[in-house]
Amino acid sequence: MQAISVQQPWAFTIARGGKTVSNQGLPTAYRGPLLIHASMRVDLKACDSPLIQAAGWDPRDPLATIGAVIAMADLDEVCSATVTGGSCDCGPWSEPGTHHWRLAGVRALPRPIVALGRPGLWEPKPTLIQTVTTMVTTAAALDPTS
Ligand SMILES: [Zn+2]
Repeated sequence: MQAISVQQPWAFTIARGGKTVSNQGLPTAYRGPLLIHASMRVDLKACDSPLIQAAGWDPRDPLATIGAVIAMADLDEVCSATVTGGSCDCGPWSEPGTHHWRLAGVRALPRPIVALGRPGLWEPKPTLIQTVTTMVTTAAALDPTS
């Protein structure tokens, strides 16, 4: 399992707002489970953007926090088409000229787990992986719709 640190409000829109593309400066060969960590820095300008507002950005939501893991996803695919000037179908969340890390099966955590992040892709400590796994498994067991 790996993790990425993402600034709020972008991390929130992955967890809650249906954002399934993370725009990154670098590609990765990694595929598999990925923790979404809200970094300590906030993109204040983005908080007022129509895209973020339409995604239901709510600063009072517990998952709007910083310095914590707030969701889990699967990194399915990395699209680098627009980096070389091409076009792609990654949708409204994708930014031209970046690598589009495409996320599937996003699960918002029932509550944030405080953790230190790092820029780019990083490897979570075993205790963090265990905490997240237990939380996600318990939440699924309690949810009659899943
Ligand atoms: Zn793309």
